[in-house]
Amino acid sequence: MKSREIHLTQHFTGKVKPEYFEMTEIDLPDPGEGEIQVKNAWLSVDPYMRGRMIGIKTYVDPFQVGGPMEGGAVGQVVKSKADGFAEGDWVMSMHGWREGWTAPAAGITKIDANLLPAEAYLGVAGMPGMTAYIGLKRMIDLKPGESLWMSAGAGAVGTAGIQFAKAMGANVVATAGGAEKTAFCTEIGADAVVDYKAVDDLAAAVKTAAKPLGGVDAYYENVGGDHLQAALDVIKPFGRFAVCGMIARYNDDTPLPGPTNLTQIVAKKLTLRGFIVSDHFDLQGQFIQDLSGWMMAGKVKTRDTIYEGVEKTPEAFMGLFEGKNIGKMLVKI
Ligand code: NDP
Repeated sequence: MKSREIHLTQHFTGKVKPEYFEMTEIDLPDPGEGEIQVKNAWLSVDPYMRGRMIGIKTYVDPFQVGGPMEGGAVGQVVKSKADGFAEGDWVMSMHGWREGWTAPAAGITKIDANLLPAEAYLGVAGMPGMTAYIGLKRMIDLKPGESLWMSAGAGAVGTAGIQFAKAMGANVVATAGGAEKTAFCTEIGADAVVDYKAVDDLAAAVKTAAKPLGGVDAYYENVGGDHLQAALDVIKPFGRFAVCGMIARYNDDTPLPGPTNLTQIVAKKLTLRGFIVSDHFDLQGQFIQDLSGWMMAGKVKTRDTIYEGVEKTPEAFMGLFEGKNIGKMLVKI
């Protein structure tokens, strides 16, 4: 089987450009003992991948220049020489950014594509959903009746987080860029929405939106920059922050000044907890149990933004930083 795959041409800081990616075609070897060959059906592009393109080790190693990049992917086994894996089985791997692969079956997860659509394992039932869950459950410990501000509310983590927070009995004010996105946040249950691109004073707009909900008890940080500044101003005393990501800063060339109001952390006695989802897999069983219940009760809807063809993977990835996705950004092979 032939497979086209996307390689990184160089490590870089600043804006992501198409020339940082190139596509090559390879002949996949037949699987050896303990290996499987898989044809990917869906690839995930995620903001955290940006950090792996800089060339320095953070909590995860950088991508190798000139080799296939890694990322979440689901696909079907084409050939197997591994116990427990048969042709046609659906699997989830980190062998993304490519059409297919041959590799050891060890560490590869089988998924049930009859229970959920295969691509859902890259979205609400996968890493982004788990991230939303950990932020709400473990970092914020969101309680019924409390009010949450979910930033990047129309994205993969955001749409999951809005619906999980509602299912937990909380109120939600969501922020997102543009009318279509805020309308979607309302459709999936947000009690109040703010189009951050349409307001001059984000803090004032969120404060007004959250007033009927009794103010903001907790903030889910996906964005950073002006959103973090506004959240520190808006949050109630003893507020809790789940610090999940700061996408507004990922393409910065150099460190920029941060919020000017960090003293609010002291004055309001705030708790800010940063986290990486992979440290919290001990809650995965509970996550799947809660998610199954919420899905069966019709409390969780999904929407994906889909680019078609492996050659579109860089474009889909760059789209994350231009707000091109509603729900999970995916590439269909
Ligand atoms: P999204 O699906 O939310 O896609 C990114 C969205 O971010 C865009 O659609 C856009 O929405 C918004 N955005 C992009 N650039 C900017 C900007 N300059 N200013 C404001 N908003 C911007 O991505 P995910 O749901 O996958 O990820 C959301 C956040 O969660 C990211 O920060 C990511 O790094 C983080 N994350 C952290 C994990 C962890 O373990 N800590 C794991 C997974 C994700 P809009 O048009 O509304 O601006």
